[in-house]
Amino acid sequence: MSYLNRIYSGLKPYTPGEQMSDQNYIKLNTNENPYEASEKARKYAQAELSKTRLYQDPENSRLAEAIAKYHHVNQNQVIITNGSDEVLYFIFAGFFTGEKPLLFPNITYGFYRVYAGFCGVNYREVPLKADFTIDLDDYTKGNANIIIANPNAPTGLKMEPSDIERILKADQNSLVVVDEAYVDFGGTSCIRLVEKYDNLIVVQTFSKARQLAGARVGFAISHEKNISDLKKIKYSINPYNVNRISEAMAIGAMEDQEHFEKTISKVIETREAFTSAIREKGFLVLDSSTNFVFAKHPGIKGKALYTKLREKGFLVRHFDTGLLTDFIRISIGKMEDMMLLADAFDNILREAGQ
Ligand code: PMP
Repeated sequence: MSYLNRIYSGLKPYTPGEQMSDQNYIKLNTNENPYEASEKARKYAQAELSKTRLYQDPENSRLAEAIAKYHHVNQNQVIITNGSDEVLYFIFAGFFTGEKPLLFPNITYGFYRVYAGFCGVNYREVPLKADFTIDLDDYTKGNANIIIANPNAPTGLKMEPSDIERILKADQNSLVVVDEAYVDFGGTSCIRLVEKYDNLIVVQTFSKARQLAGARVGFAISHEKNISDLKKIKYSINPYNVNRISEAMAIGAMEDQEHFEKTISKVIETREAFTSAIREKGFLVLDSSTNFVFAKHPGIKGKALYTKLREKGFLVRHFDTGLLTDFIRISIGKMEDMMLLADAFDNILREAGQ
């Protein structure tokens, strides 16, 4: 007997990357940052531990103020959520459930399809071009809401804000959501366009470049009307969605610009070195503006590569569907781990007779 409402019987939930405990893997499968969070973040969290008896400020005003200041917007243009996944959920539930169709690329963050299914959104997945880039013409026909990850996942490819602006301009009665989870690793943010376009929502996260994946903090920036609408959803579901310890950590991370910049530089330097190293081994690697690379080798299938790497103690991500099946997605870890991975590729290719 299932007590689940029948409307959910066909639900296809998101499959998170594996979090293994059976052995010490070099874990490069969920785009986590290999460096620890700023010491300031950890210190601020410590100071909150004696206060958990009390609910936190449901607006997370101190963090909202820090984010607003950093991005040169007003505080009422910011909503803070439990990871950016939560604000994406609020957006899908609140803005995408009407008549108007929702468009997103057929290769992108897997959660868009999941939320669309869960919320009953009328959506269409638009095929990317053969080189995995977006055909702007697909998104400028009007009368459709749009969500785009920029840079995209799992491809790692970025679009310029001028291209996003073309989409925004094409139909100012439809909503355009730009998910900038990876923007700090080489993309350009569209936040400055919020001032000009009421139909833009930019989503960012503390999970990647600010090392707080396990603290769950994300946010959106938009016109104040959109933010107050999103807050209506938040206050109808879970007003205390971002706990005080996580908020304190995020404030600490915002205050430590030096740590932020230093760790981003290290990730980018490692990404470039690793990309060159494996291209020399015959891998095709897309040009990444993120903290991961999307790569394939002509001589070995993605699934086999994933399995062999796992046997050798490396966890990467393989998506066993359609166009993605030849590829693996590799998060950028510390330089020494990435060089060990490059060496493991040599062994695997040799064993495969390549
Ligand atoms: N957007 C994209 C494109 C992502 O890859 C992810 C993380 N996997 C998220 C949003 C959500 O991240 P979080 O909820 O940790 O902020």
